[in-house]
Amino acid sequence: MFDSLSDKLQRVFKNIRGEGKLTAENMEVALKEIRVALLEADVHFKVVKAFMEGVRTKALGQEVLSSFSPAQQVIKIVRDELITVLGTHTARLRTANQPPTVVMVVGLQGSGKTTSSGKLARYLSKNGHRPLLVSVDVYRPAARQQLAVLAKDLGIPIYEGTPEETKPVDLARSARREAEISGRDMVLVDTAGRLHIDEDLMTELSQLKEALNPTEILFVADAMTGQDAVKSAEEFHKRLGITGVVLTKMDGDARGGAALSIRHITGQPLKFVGTGEKSDALEAFHPDRAASRILGMGDVLSFIEKVESAVDQKKAEQMQRKLLEDDFTLEDFRDQLKQLRKLGSLESLLGMMPQVGMLKELKNVKVDEHEFTRVVAIIDSMTPKERDNHMLINGSRRRRIAKGSGTSVQDVNNLLKQYGQARKMMKSVSGGLLGKKMGKLKL
Ligand code: GDP
Repeated sequence: MFDSLSDKLQRVFKNIRGEGKLTAENMEVALKEIRVALLEADVHFKVVKAFMEGVRTKALGQEVLSSFSPAQQVIKIVRDELITVLGTHTARLRTANQPPTVVMVVGLQGSGKTTSSGKLARYLSKNGHRPLLVSVDVYRPAARQQLAVLAKDLGIPIYEGTPEETKPVDLARSARREAEISGRDMVLVDTAGRLHIDEDLMTELSQLKEALNPTEILFVADAMTGQDAVKSAEEFHKRLGITGVVLTKMDGDARGGAALSIRHITGQPLKFVGTGEKSDALEAFHPDRAASRILGMGDVLSFIEKVESAVDQKKAEQMQRKLLEDDFTLEDFRDQLKQLRKLGSLESLLGMMPQVGMLKELKNVKVDEHEFTRVVAIIDSMTPKERDNHMLINGSRRRRIAKGSGTSVQDVNNLLKQYGQARKMMKSVSGGLLGKKMGKLKL
């Protein structure tokens, strides 16, 4: 899934990383390459346009924050934009206030409708529901037979109908009644498909919609057909009003274009992806996970996510200013250590450190997990004035602080030495990249 797009994007990021320094020029080159990668992945041109506009807006005038290296910042922007395109949250299947919930499964023939209906039934029953299946494809007995076999394998009930029920609407209505009687809370209606969109099919589906008032109309599309899948989704939505999409055959070598385009073009979310022929090969679609998969940079992304959740943006900016003004006090030092601590174990963090930024400099201070508490206790035992100006801390004050924190004078001396080192190192980087703005970007 998304393999070739992922490879291409990773190459782009590698190039930026190799640059060491991010300039407006090499950023522009990177953005052009990202655009080509998306087009080559068969992403709809409108989506590519919106995507690049989003990236450009976010990148314009961005502060290069101390927590991220410039390359990481670009990756973060692209990830955020991917999530925007894929859908900002996981779109769950909705249920009706009054059961049974009716889910119509629609799509062209061969897209994987029947297989997906079976998979969905299995998925729902694993998630505490009691689904009932029904096939209303009155033209193809083989299709109905296929669903019946699937249902039997899965141990899920199916409404098979009577010989008199020859119309799709009749079959579906009876299935719903059957669900009401037998206490089934969801009815999955596998509808007929055609090789192409035609009037008869659309009329039939509209009649079904009117008769059943379904909570969900899921459009099933074959991801391997790329933009054709997007086009038919658009058409179905225009004619019928779909509520979500199931993209099948994502286990094949689909380039990802359909997945990245369908939501933007139809305005309806991708809810599930099919990843194989077996009944368990169905996954709820999570935009954030898919974006990470596309970027394929587990280490960098988890670092970005950790920093995002732990670092207070305002504080980070404040800190940056302090560094520039050479005003980094012991109090700030303690805050920084606490922030680091929030990010998890120092050991695991070191591997994810950005190339530039104060976190890397703090790494050299070598505060290990056990020392952390002691260091904080020592700083806590200082008076605000001492924390503000370490020069005040003479011999007798050191003895008092050691006593107050249950440590030794030697420990206090060590801490002051570490703090001095951190200050020096931070000052040297602050003259470099910190605080600089990224140049203006053009696409
Ligand atoms: P329908 O005509 O739309 O009902 O399509 P079917 O459900 O009969 O599926 C058509 C073919 O696609 C069958 O051979 C399925 O096994 C296959 N298929 C469906 N979903 C997937 C999937 O997610 N991955 C793969 N590899 N094959 C699938």
